[in-house]
Amino acid sequence: MRFFDSIDFSSPADIKNVQGKLLEELIGRTSLYYKDVFRQNNIAPNEIKRVDELPFTTRDDLQRHNWDFLAVQRNAIREIVSTTGTTGQPQFIAMTEGDIDRLAYNEQRSFTYTGAKEGDLFHIAVTGDNLFIAGAAYYRGLIRLGAAVARVGPQNTIRQFDLIEKLRPSAIVAVPSFMLHMARAANELKIDPKDLNIKKAVLIGESIRDMSLRSNALGELVEEAFGDICYSTYGITEGQVSFCECGQKEGLHSHPDLVIAEVVDEAGVPLDDGEIGELVLTTLQIEGMPLIRYKTGDITFKITEPCKCGRNSLRIGPIIGRKMQRLKIKGVTLYPKTIENAICKLKDVVNYQIEAATGENHSDRVILRVGSLRADKAFRDGIIENLRAKARVTPELEIESPDSINKRLYDGGARKAVVFKDVRNKD
Ligand SMILES: [Zn+2]
Repeated sequence: MRFFDSIDFSSPADIKNVQGKLLEELIGRTSLYYKDVFRQNNIAPNEIKRVDELPFTTRDDLQRHNWDFLAVQRNAIREIVSTTGTTGQPQFIAMTEGDIDRLAYNEQRSFTYTGAKEGDLFHIAVTGDNLFIAGAAYYRGLIRLGAAVARVGPQNTIRQFDLIEKLRPSAIVAVPSFMLHMARAANELKIDPKDLNIKKAVLIGESIRDMSLRSNALGELVEEAFGDICYSTYGITEGQVSFCECGQKEGLHSHPDLVIAEVVDEAGVPLDDGEIGELVLTTLQIEGMPLIRYKTGDITFKITEPCKCGRNSLRIGPIIGRKMQRLKIKGVTLYPKTIENAICKLKDVVNYQIEAATGENHSDRVILRVGSLRADKAFRDGIIENLRAKARVTPELEIESPDSINKRLYDGGARKAVVFKDVRNKD
């Protein structure tokens, strides 16, 4: 593991140079899986000069050949983490001691972008176990930074407030919707979340920005409650890497010595800045399970121009959806998240579920079910109007009681609310 602490501020040419050397290293010592792929595609590893000369790796490849991706002896494994498996089976990722160091370095750097520093106390409200990589990354990253950590986890709100009041953390790491949940609970307890004196919130798991990089509805709700203290971050288990906003909040910075990020179209052709496509990652300096051109399934765009903060690292926009959730309604392409963002802030909307079914003429049929105690015309019209303005679509709208929606969300004993239900034919 080599650290390039100041690489973000290097010139684009120098960054490219470092990435080229690290790519060479990656191709030089890789797993059984990639040795086979190289052989099948007649690739001579020592002739590869650019990442886009290499074939893609899909989630399906990783799932099917999971342990063939291991590039070290089994006894070099120190930790095993896994993806959540919300879309398909979980994939296991084995990490060496070097990988754990790399993970800490990665997260330390991400926190640095937010201005976190020695002396800060971070309240970590996300889970630290259950094979979840991010909890370990925050913990080790903050310690590496010289900050202090309180590993609270996703406890109930009473416990959260109690610890916040007693420990007075300067910062929090949480999922945006959990912050909202806390804000609502604070309201009931007659606490103003702004009085908690939290100076920084690093938010993971859901996007709080829209395509223009401004706060989306979820971000606005969190900021209304806690103030303008939010930083968006995106992490991916398979890549053992995170992307994070700096103080400019104009995209999420990558760590150029840990990952090569591309955004590609349907046909796998790399896209230019601002063009929307799938995020593809090639991991650098990973020992255990390195990945080459891994198609994440996450949809975003890239920004290569230097950031006003002075860093020259590639940035990505917010994740606007998962590739497999893409909807096509009468020629308009969008993701369920866009629909959610258009309605989640509306008054009297208690809960909702979006269902996609196969429609006619290559169009999807999208039914939006809203849970509310209101069902009058003005309420319906308000929802439709917002969808037209913010999502450019008019799905079928059904209004039900919040209880009935709740039953749909947890139908069949789902552990996590199924906000997007996909019953489209997959052929
Ligand atoms: Zn920046």
